Amino acid sequence: QGEVRFEAVRFGYDPAREILHGLSFTIPAGKTLAIVGPSGAGKSTIARLLFRFYDIQSGRILIDGQDIARVQQDSLRAAIGIVPQDMVLFNDTVGYNIGYGRAGASEAEIEAAARGASIHDFILSLPDGYATRVGERGLKLSGGEKQRVAIARTLVKNPPILVLDEATSALDSRTEEAIQGVLGEIARRRTTIIVAHRLSTVVDADEILMLDAGQIAERGTHQQLLRAG
Ligand code: ADP
Ligand code: ADP
Repeated sequence: QGEVRFEAVRFGYDPAREILHGLSFTIPAGKTLAIVGPSGAGKSTIARLLFRFYDIQSGRILIDGQDIARVQQDSLRAAIGIVPQDMVLFNDTVGYNIGYGRAGASEAEIEAAARGASIHDFILSLPDGYATRVGERGLKLSGGEKQRVAIARTLVKNPPILVLDEATSALDSRTEEAIQGVLGEIARRRTTIIVAHRLSTVVDADEILMLDAGQIAERGTHQQLLRAG
């Protein structure tokens, strides 16, 4: 469960200015695809389309063979976890922020969910310890900490498909390491992962798709691309 397929997808925010020019690719269920390419290539756009933030002009986007245009928004939200690069956190506790999306969840339930999703270590990797700061209101979090809270918020939902949009964000090395670790763990539980990212994290991806001006310039494993390059 979790196959993602783009079939000849054409899209422009303004239909008169096409951004994706008939894009096709398939990610088998449980595999990791990294989308790389220069700023403005369309990486974030792909992430947004998967969540149906916008309708495409032509082509199809399929999840497990189902056209997402025909899927209820609710099921789409259950199937896909997206971590946008500019996720806004609530001015509240870490616990509340992570639990958001699980209506009425208590801190104990959030903790349990985090354990169930086996990301507890990830949350603990928040500086000073998630456990001691979970109930603290009005936290002053660094950019990297915020990013980790945002990721944790998506991960506790345990979605079959995970989309990380980090196309331009500059992560500190600690955060990047924590994310790498948790992604490896998630990959082992057969989640389909799509990362729109700078080059550093893509080495572990099953496939890398190099995007340029809304078209696939190159695709292959890290090894294949190194040989070709
Ligand atoms: P990347 O993530 O690879 O940097 P984007 O997907 O953000 O690229 O952008 C692809 C193109 O779409 C760019 O030309 C950008 O200017 C344009 N674009 C992105 N977001 C919007 C938007 N909300 N409205 C209009 N144009 C947009
Ligand atoms: P990124 O390159 O970090 O993915 P964005 O996707 O936010 O950045 O934006 C990419 C480009 O699209 C930027 O040049 C930005 O100015 C432009 N853009 C973003 N949102 C809009 C919008 N609503 N209307 C027009 N252009 C936009």
